[in-house]
Amino acid sequence: MIFDRSWVEIDLAAFRHNLRQLKSLLPAGVDFMQIVKADAYGHGALEIGRIAIDEGAKYLGVANVEEGKLLRVQGCKAPILILSPSLENEIEQIVGYDLRPCVSQLSFALALQKEALKRSKRINIHLKLDSGMHRSGVGLEQFEELYYEVQGLSQIRIEGVCSHFASSEEDLEFSISQLQCFESILQKLQPKPAVIHIANSSAVVNKLLGVSNMARLGILSFGVYTNESQKEIIQLKTVMSFKSRIALIKQIKAGEGLGYNLTWIAPKDSRYAVVPVGYADGYDFMLSNKAKVSIHSQLCDVIGKVSMDMICVDISQIPDAELMDEVILMGAVNQLHPEQLSSLYHGSSYELLCQVGRRAKRYYLENDAVSHSTPLARRDFVSSDFSDFKLSQIIQSAISQRLQNEEMGELISREILKYFFFNKDQDIHYRKDFCYYIRLDECKQANHWQATMKLNFKKVLQNDYLIVACANNAQALNRYFIKRDVEYRWLLDNSITLSEEYFHLTQVYVNDLLLNTSLKLTDSCIEIRCEHPQLKHLVGKEVAFSIEVQSYYPKASHQFSVYINELTHGVKVKLSYPDEIKNMEIVPIFSGQNRFPSVDHSPGCVTVQTAIDQWIFPISGIVFAY
Ligand SMILES: *Cc1c(COP(=O)(O)O)cnc(C)c1O
Repeated sequence: MIFDRSWVEIDLAAFRHNLRQLKSLLPAGVDFMQIVKADAYGHGALEIGRIAIDEGAKYLGVANVEEGKLLRVQGCKAPILILSPSLENEIEQIVGYDLRPCVSQLSFALALQKEALKRSKRINIHLKLDSGMHRSGVGLEQFEELYYEVQGLSQIRIEGVCSHFASSEEDLEFSISQLQCFESILQKLQPKPAVIHIANSSAVVNKLLGVSNMARLGILSFGVYTNESQKEIIQLKTVMSFKSRIALIKQIKAGEGLGYNLTWIAPKDSRYAVVPVGYADGYDFMLSNKAKVSIHSQLCDVIGKVSMDMICVDISQIPDAELMDEVILMGAVNQLHPEQLSSLYHGSSYELLCQVGRRAKRYYLENDAVSHSTPLARRDFVSSDFSDFKLSQIIQSAISQRLQNEEMGELISREILKYFFFNKDQDIHYRKDFCYYIRLDECKQANHWQATMKLNFKKVLQNDYLIVACANNAQALNRYFIKRDVEYRWLLDNSITLSEEYFHLTQVYVNDLLLNTSLKLTDSCIEIRCEHPQLKHLVGKEVAFSIEVQSYYPKASHQFSVYINELTHGVKVKLSYPDEIKNMEIVPIFSGQNRFPSVDHSPGCVTVQTAIDQWIFPISGIVFAY
């Protein structure tokens, strides 16, 4: 049972069924592209794409570079075609993410050629003909010229030629004229492009394929008819259902008005339910006083205006309706099919599909059982800073593993990514070539080791100064964990006086600049500010940090911990210790690509390290116990 305020169910078996129906209408030799733009019309591009490919889709179609990029980051390897015109500033990413653009103008092709040359890559494109819709595409008169000019570009391969119908679901005559225009051009082209496509899903049903060898399947694959007549040719099943539950049950007296502006006046004493979805959830405002919902398999009227977050439903005819009863708002129920709902307000079923369930979690059903669900925060984003798919997977699986819960893992990792990369103003850069040397030596201070620490790493310099902090209690030190200008933290045992004598910054370098230091001593902390007039020229650049400090460590504590609290690429930690320590145990607690770093232990010296290209995720660490 699902107990969300509202949710969307995606019936993957129905989607498969629809695809098979549509495929059966394709002549031999005609492949198909699954259209997954706008998150597959709200159904989830990743899941829909996955099943479509399983069913034989040769391409996925997206609207723009962002959508293509997201699929790539999620691990999709299929050819992806960008249907809408791209902007020149998107070219770098188009090439970087191996996406295929539809091209309608020479200037874009030239810009593409330039980028491709720069990277010594060859790029597949589809040239688009405007065969009469007069939206994107190049006109009939200029098409041939464009075709041959682009063909002359060394780095560009015209893989496909395509066009788009303006009205394939209802205007057969005009569609045929478009098809003829398309075919007349194709006849002339030498050599012929490998992939030829013009038909959307309605065109497939209306047999408007002509010389195509590929069809682009969208709305019908989601089980939404675009014309009544299609029902005689093809049996489709609605894939998406939008559901909620009764949150309140109330009575209203004859003559009383309900909802904003009291647009519904009770014709008789009535009983009604408040359902916690509104237009902010994608339940269209235009459905006010028009739509029905299904409760206990009975249709009930939506009464009054749809509010932002609530609707009211007349349940007078269902005396046994109770709180928490399921309410079907849209789905495979007569009168609740998306095309039926949108026709109530002369709207678009395409739009309704895209907008529905804005706040809802999607549940994927396979054979009537929930196979998996997407997290609530499914508004995916991909930052250009975050192009390492592997890293994303590592982070996610590391968290999932720790939480023993995949969904939470995904949610949290998204939050973390957002934190790291989305909020550009707090850009955090990872550390790399992280080397940390610790030496424990005998010293004059009774019952203590002298500890010498040397930390080297590379990182993009974020400020023209940095802070080294030392505190004698964890709470005080914690403050320095959230500050981004702190590059080194040390917890001094509270048996030791907090003073410069017992925590001493020997030297700190950024590249070859020896930084000047100034010390601030408070009750619980030593804060050392390190700066240099030249540092400001290095901000934003990757620099080498070298920090050397001296302190003391109580012998009696019997363990020494090293924390890795920033995203780090490659870790090496080396601890040298005196003979007096007989038994040294090393417990690495790593999350990341390799949870088991190599541990090399010889008398008096331990080295714990990962390969230099392995990601270590915060918070990892090593406990040295003696
Ligand atoms: C959206 C789209 C489709 C899919 O159309 P449906 O009517 O949903 O089948 C096909 N081709 C292009 C270029 C599109 O943008």
